[in-house]
Amino acid sequence: MTTSRCDVLVVGGGPAGLIAAREVASSAPDLDVMLLERDRAIGAPVRCGEGVGHAGIADFMDPVDAPWVSRRITRVVFVAPDGTQVRVAEGDVGYVLDRSRFEPAIAEEAGRSGAEIVIGTEATSVARTDYGWRVATRGPAGAGTIDARLIIAADGVESMVGRWAGLDTRVPSRDMESCAQYVVAGIAFDPDAIYLHFGSDIAPGGYAWVFPKAVGVANVGLGVVALRAEHGRSARAYLDRYLESYFPTGVRTGYTVGGVIVSTTLARTVTDGMILCGDAAHMINPLSGGGIVNAMKSGRLAAHVAVDAVRTGDASAGRLERYHGEWMRLLGDDHVRFYRIKEALGKFDDAFFDHLARSVNGIPEHRRTLGRIFARALVRHPALFPVVAKYFV
Ligand SMILES: Cc1cc2nc3c(=O)[nH]c(=O)nc-3n(C[C@H](O)[C@H](O)[C@H](O)COP(=O)(O)OP(=O)(O)OC[C@H]3O[C@@H](n4cnc5c(N)ncnc54)[C@H](O)[C@@H]3O)c2cc1C
Repeated sequence: MTTSRCDVLVVGGGPAGLIAAREVASSAPDLDVMLLERDRAIGAPVRCGEGVGHAGIADFMDPVDAPWVSRRITRVVFVAPDGTQVRVAEGDVGYVLDRSRFEPAIAEEAGRSGAEIVIGTEATSVARTDYGWRVATRGPAGAGTIDARLIIAADGVESMVGRWAGLDTRVPSRDMESCAQYVVAGIAFDPDAIYLHFGSDIAPGGYAWVFPKAVGVANVGLGVVALRAEHGRSARAYLDRYLESYFPTGVRTGYTVGGVIVSTTLARTVTDGMILCGDAAHMINPLSGGGIVNAMKSGRLAAHVAVDAVRTGDASAGRLERYHGEWMRLLGDDHVRFYRIKEALGKFDDAFFDHLARSVNGIPEHRRTLGRIFARALVRHPALFPVVAKYFV
């Protein structure tokens, strides 16, 4: 049995946890910070489309010529159910990452700043003590315990740590997307563009994506809301059908599945001595399903609130509540609006999106802003007005 003690214990070595560990270690070198990752490698296996926006990622790491970028993206193409393509962005749109190198790069920065990164070690339960929390662990050397003043729970979509501490982390099934993705080689597409393909036959409740990794190679995946799938058809079955239709000669060199929570932030993201961040706190953009940058932003926020709490000797839920408020102002309130838009859009059929795509193509490419696209949608469906009004309030 191994035992150890630290000020801040981060559970989970994804983008949220790694940024949290990096920020605690760099902003408070006097505090002991430890990060546990149950997988045997940081950044692997990759269960992700790996797409991120330029501004979001550049806020944390310099993406220019970075070895963890697979592809720079300069265009976004929406594809309507009938195949009509709409180009909606041009310029420094974003990147398709190589997460197997990206996360180790953050881990290296965290480690250099003084965080202890422990791989192959899983948190298995938590219990409240006078010190803070006692965390039971299972690792290469067997069972152990870690005493921590404060826990940052960044344990992802299957999060258990918050639940063990009594927080309600359940996800309504209508807000859970099942995703499947292949890495596909030998296919033809614009390698500088990401494609988002909508349609009730393609991906009910979600969309299919083509995110370039290199010329001729892409992450091709889709997410479906299981409740909307025909006859319980799986995400993989939808994806196989998609590939047969659109990339029949593509060579599949990798496969992954995973869940994405397309909901709003948990009502409570803190309890005594504990802060939840990233997917564990349901901080994914419910419209796009993107969660990497959100996870990093919440990890940074969690780190700063955690340092303040440990320094002042007050890690009570009341003191940590500041984290929840700051997150809601930063992105959480936007997610409530995005969720409403998602709900409203979910009521329209494929014909609406086909018509909207053709109509938007009538707007010159350099003038296609989100506002103008909404305006076109409103002309056809005035019922969208209340939703859009809420979005802009
Ligand atoms: C198929 C798919 C495609 C996606 N595509 C995109 C995309 O293109 N762009 C985007 O922005 N987002 C995408 N996402 C979402 C994105 O992957 C997540 O939002 C993001 O990884 C969240 O980061 P996180 O740090 O909160 O959690 P994670 O990245 O899930 O990290 C959590 C970590 O905690 C570890 N862990 C869990 N439990 C324990 C425990 N008890 N003890 C120790 N360690 C533990 C896990 O092993 C994991 O490494 C996609 C998701 C899926 C499933």
